[in-house]
Parts: sequence; structure tokens; C-alpha cells
Amino acid sequence: MFAKRFADLKPYVPGEQPKDRVYIKLNANENPYPPSPEVARVLHEFDASQLRLYPDPDSDELRGAIARMLGSGITPEMILAGNGSDEVLSFVFYTFFDSDAPLYFPEHTYSFYPVYAGYYGIPYKKIQLGKDFSINIDAMLEGESGGIIFANPNAPTGIYMPLEGIRSILDRYPEDKVVVVDEAYIDFGGESALALLKDYRNLVIIRTFSKSYCFAGARLGFVVANPELISALFTTKNSFNHFPVDLLAQRIGIASCGDPDYYKKINSTIMQTRESFSAGLRDAGWDVLPSMANFVLARKNGFDGRYIYNYIKQNGILVRYFNIPGITDFVRISIGTPGDMIKLLGIMKGL
Ligand code: PMP
Repeated sequence: MFAKRFADLKPYVPGEQPKDRVYIKLNANENPYPPSPEVARVLHEFDASQLRLYPDPDSDELRGAIARMLGSGITPEMILAGNGSDEVLSFVFYTFFDSDAPLYFPEHTYSFYPVYAGYYGIPYKKIQLGKDFSINIDAMLEGESGGIIFANPNAPTGIYMPLEGIRSILDRYPEDKVVVVDEAYIDFGGESALALLKDYRNLVIIRTFSKSYCFAGARLGFVVANPELISALFTTKNSFNHFPVDLLAQRIGIASCGDPDYYKKINSTIMQTRESFSAGLRDAGWDVLPSMANFVLARKNGFDGRYIYNYIKQNGILVRYFNIPGITDFVRISIGTPGDMIKLLGIMKGL
């Protein structure tokens, strides 16, 4: 009954979404704040009869709004929108990575990358991180790869690679192979690589509305790259499903782009909360990796990540642990409201 390829699928396991009890959810890097009031207004005023019609397949108005929001010379022709960055990542893997040479990514990074590589039959190589869990740039450039992808800030470490690091990768990498920088968490203190697009035609940047724009529940993500690469991605998209972004997601995406001040404000609160929570944990004897994302990776000598996770869960808060060699002693904690983090700090101090 099943196709042969089905037996090889190794699906991604997302953070749990429990239905049995109400937890404070700090396990999926969701934003604790609501989207801009402009989003609520658009939803409130939405005329349901418009749902009769298919949405704009190219999301042109949305791409225009994203381009205006990003500034720095970005035009709508440099953008492709999709159902969350997971979907646009799928298009990127299909379009740019092949089976000739392995795709390189850091040993610890977004765990969907090996899933897509498996799905599309792309060989890959995991490149060891430095002792401090930062991405080892020299190692990423050693030997022959068929492309490079990593998240910046990286996940689940939270560690940020400054722009000079990205520039040095691009300077030393063949121009005919693509370097993908997944900026899902860039709005929490990092500097975007968007400014490098004018100098490097093989740079591809991935963004999402799920984290800093507070709507993981309505799916919207996008790619920013040279128009030639975007046009190739449109070919892939239109060979798969030419209407990927629904009308409501397009509308609220446009509304979000129109209210950057709101997002700057809430995301700087998250950054402040992250810093005070990390300092509190360190004072209590925890090892906390320096994060530029909306989460932190933390461990305490003598404890296993799964044990810490269970202990915190019994106290009503969900965090995430990883059954992955090298990071089994850590838990990843998404940054919630200051109240959430004070409560969690109190619980963690009890360990
Ligand atoms: N990239 C990274 C690094 C992520 O952590 C996530 C969230 N799990 C995604 C992409 C996907 O985000 P979304 O599909 O919600 O845009």
C-alpha cells in the first residue's frame, strides 16, 4: 500500500502542544505577546465573504509591504512568501541543494534541516561546533560541500555569528553554491545579513513571522535573495502548490509590516527579560549560553536535561530537552513575560 520512499521518512518532532493541562508554554520559542493591534483590527474588520475567492498566488501586496519594512535596498522581486519558513525552506532545499556534494550544516542547528535533506535525498554533513558551541567557520569551509545552511542566531544554542563571520564565509565560498542564513531569531538583538545581499548573489536569507512577529498560529515566512534565485524558487513553488499563502495570512502579514514600532518595543522587552533571567540563573549556579534569540540553553552540573524538563513540568511550565548527544544535559527555555520568567527562576533555583 505504501510507496517505497515512505519507509525512509524521518519526520521532525516539534515541541509538545499539550491539551491535558494548562502549562506556561516556554518550549516552542513562541512570542508571549500578541501581534500588533493592527493585526487584531484587520481580523475584526475582515469580510468573510472574501474567502470565496482564491488569494493572490504571488502575495504581491505582502511582498511590497515586506520590502518596504526591510528597507536596505530590498525590492519585492527579492522576496518569496510561504506558509511559514518551514515551507520556504522546503523550496530552498529542493531548488538549490543536490546530491553531488554534501550539504554542510552545524552539528547542532535547526533539526528540520536533516529532515528535509532526507526527504529530498540530499547528502549532508554535520560540522562540529567549537568548544563554546559557536559555529566553526573554518570547518564549515573545509572540503567540498554542495551548499551551506545554518541559523543565525543558531538554534538551539542561541549563539549569534556577527556579520563579519558571514561575510568571511561568503568571501571564501564558491559563488555558484548557495549559502542559506536562517534568520528566524534575528530580531532579538542580532544584525541581519540583508545588507550583504547586494555583494553576494549566492546568499539566501530566511525569515518568519512566527517569532518576533507573534503569529506562529497563522503560517507566514519568507525568503529574501537575489531576484534570479527568487524566480527559481517561484518555479519550485508553482510546481508544488501555486496558492501557498492564504488570504488572511497575507492580510495580517501586511498589517504587521505597517507597525514596526510595536514589534521593536515588545522584542526589546523580551531581550531585557532574557538578560535578567540569564543573570539570575547564572547567579544560581547554572551554565547559560550567551543568547541573541528569544530562548536560552541552560544546564546545571550533575543534572540531565530530561530530568530538569520533568522537574519544571511538574511545576506547571513546559521547556524542551534534546535527546541528542552533545546537548543532553541542557534544557532550552523560551523567553516569556517577566512574570513567567520570575516564576521559572524560582522553580529552577529549587533544583
Ligand atoms: N527556522 C528555525 C531556526 C526555527 O527554529 C524555526 C521554528 N521551529 C523555523 C525555522 C520554522 O518557523 P516557521 O515555520 O514557524 O516559520
